Amino acid sequence: MSTSPEHPGPRLRPALEGVPAYKPGRAAADRDGERTYKLSSNENPYPPLPSVLAKVRDAAETFNRYPDMFATGLTAAIAERFDVPVTSVATGTGSVGVLQQVVQSCAAEGDEVVYAWRSFEAYPVVVGISGATSVRVPLTADERHDLDAMAEAVTERTRLVLVCSPNNPTGTAVRRAELVRFLNRVPPHVLVVIDEAYREFVRDPDVPDALEVYRDRPNVAVLRTFSKAYGLAGLRVGFAVAHEPVAEALRKTAVPFGVSGLAQVAATTSLEAEAELLHRVEALVTERSRVQAALREQGWTAVPASQANFVWLRLGERTEEFAAACEQAGVMVRPFAGEGARITIGERIADDVFLDVAKRFVAS
Ligand SMILES: *Cc1c(COP(=O)(O)O)cnc(C)c1O
Repeated sequence: MSTSPEHPGPRLRPALEGVPAYKPGRAAADRDGERTYKLSSNENPYPPLPSVLAKVRDAAETFNRYPDMFATGLTAAIAERFDVPVTSVATGTGSVGVLQQVVQSCAAEGDEVVYAWRSFEAYPVVVGISGATSVRVPLTADERHDLDAMAEAVTERTRLVLVCSPNNPTGTAVRRAELVRFLNRVPPHVLVVIDEAYREFVRDPDVPDALEVYRDRPNVAVLRTFSKAYGLAGLRVGFAVAHEPVAEALRKTAVPFGVSGLAQVAATTSLEAEAELLHRVEALVTERSRVQAALREQGWTAVPASQANFVWLRLGERTEEFAAACEQAGVMVRPFAGEGARITIGERIADDVFLDVAKRFVAS
């Protein structure tokens, strides 16, 4: 039955009306025996490690049971690995899940959440659902967070500031001195969350590990994920490191039993196999250097030095044309219409297809 003035549908929260739908990177569909590649979602191109897969297979034997609600083993492993108290760790269904817990914990109608733009597409969605207002601070001309402008955007109503470093989709990361200056300006009752989904790919020594910065600042929390460097995107597990009482609030707002038993086992085993996984990350970082050097060689100017597992091309009005040309050649990239395209560093063969399109494009 459709709705009408006499039979109105259920009343939904007006806040949802302005919320954009999350747009996932497009999947690569194989056509006519020709391989296509997905470079649109910043996934890890390596298949699961055999040791991780074996543990997940064993864990699958008991999925008639609920998982450990408090992810005790994983939480202890994270606390040990990052040298923080177990009470400072909160897990969730991917770091987007944890981000939702963060926003629910501190912002609602009438509150403001400050973040850079363009940045991670999940931010406007998660903030919009909460009913809080997004305050977007434009990136600088060189695609970086404008932390001075972000500090100035903090008002009486601000409850939360999100700092995405490295920034998705531009790949730039905030540096130690500018971050410290910024944190010194933000009032202590405003939570600052540093989203470090790509931390393991950072090689610039001036980019701080947010866990160092967090230690003596009660209003700073750090988000990390197992989706990217650790290659567990499909299992949905991430975590925050935060001081009490923030960490406690994040545990309260978590979906009960949200992190599956398979995800808990996979993440715990991945921490044990970290050396092997970080070896793969190193190979991707090397490949990133190769791709960036090739782009500059082709004549692309102003390609930001990416600290993540993707590169950003500011293509403006030609963005969609470029994405279509890539698709035609067999690689899916992530276009942001009118702005630019984000291209994940993947298998060398896929990156070469992308570089081929980029070469033709820069010449035309
Ligand atoms: C990919 C990504 C995440 C992680 O998402 P998960 O929910 O953990 O898969 C978080 N933040 C940013 C900026 C990302 O790009």
